[in-house]
Amino acid sequence: MLERHPPSEIEAGLQAVTDEDVLRVLASPGPDLKTALALFSGPAMNHLEKMAGLAHRITLARFGRTISLYAPLYLSNHCINQCTYCGFNARRKVTRIQLSPEEAVSQAQCLFVQDIRHLLLVTGEAPNQYGLDCIGAVARRVRRRAASIAVEIFPCDLAGYTQLAQAGVDGLVLYQETYDPQRYREFHPAGPKKDFYGRLAAMDAGGQAHFRSLGIGALLGLTPHRVEAVSMVLHGAYLMRKYPHARLAISFPRLRPVPSGTPVLHPVSDAELVQLVIGFRLLFPDAELVVSTRESAQLRDRLLPLGVTRISAGSRTTPGGYGCDLPDSAAGQFEPNDQRSVGEVIQAVQAAGYDTVTKDFDAAFIGDAP
Ligand code: SF4
Repeated sequence: MLERHPPSEIEAGLQAVTDEDVLRVLASPGPDLKTALALFSGPAMNHLEKMAGLAHRITLARFGRTISLYAPLYLSNHCINQCTYCGFNARRKVTRIQLSPEEAVSQAQCLFVQDIRHLLLVTGEAPNQYGLDCIGAVARRVRRRAASIAVEIFPCDLAGYTQLAQAGVDGLVLYQETYDPQRYREFHPAGPKKDFYGRLAAMDAGGQAHFRSLGIGALLGLTPHRVEAVSMVLHGAYLMRKYPHARLAISFPRLRPVPSGTPVLHPVSDAELVQLVIGFRLLFPDAELVVSTRESAQLRDRLLPLGVTRISAGSRTTPGGYGCDLPDSAAGQFEPNDQRSVGEVIQAVQAAGYDTVTKDFDAAFIGDAP
């Protein structure tokens, strides 16, 4: 799918879009290449208001006035990769921490008491040190209180994801970071993450393992974002065709540079981020659109009526970061921008006229009750 549409071809397609093309696809948007090129083009910036109105109406019809809250639960920051933009890069001298199942449960309790019940279990990529058995052990212990458990970990094969699914994991998040295979090599110079196509294939394994949610994203700021957005549409449309049982979740992480890491090479403005959110809502009416605490409180609040359906709150990006004193050298993967507490985020969501959803699904419905 992506091989047939290399970044140079997508770039040329974006350059060719006219105002008339944008207006034409707005009459009947669908998750195809032509629509994606039009909605993520430069000329589409002239039609943001119209796009925003459509996105708002579609989101209300599909999701009502609801926002689901989640929080990342970092289990380990050991990593054997050398992603040039990441605070957990194997070459960095940071305090490496891995949580025991008991410590992880205690971290989860910190979130449950704040009414966060959608958990995202996060690890670096060091499967020999903190692997599927450890992650599965945590999932088994928290599944009774969690409404959903997703993982953002090293890529696995079908057997690996099936093991996690049996432990109670129901969602997979695996960002491709960039869909440009050439640029990908620059940012991932060493370690198993060098394998661009292996990473893409892992999302298929997640679909075959029947995860309910498949989460994709590109790290915005590494390469021209319009090209990444169109590639993401191609990837998302492919996943939805092949794994119709799953809900697509799309994230828009903007790079938060770490000291001496890759800086923002291709800045994405707030208005351009808004274009991405509303463009994806028009293209994928049923997808979860996710915005994390990488973004400011003000921008997150403004994005609520435009199509976002899932936001993180009170996030800590260090293992053991919830309610604990950590050593000074225990830096996080990145510094969150929205520093509000969970309670403050809930208040802001309610003030915007939305309800926060803590539980939207019961595993018993699919005969998977613990
Ligand atoms: S982005 Fe993930 S894989 Fe890359 S260095 Fe950071 S923790 Fe490791």
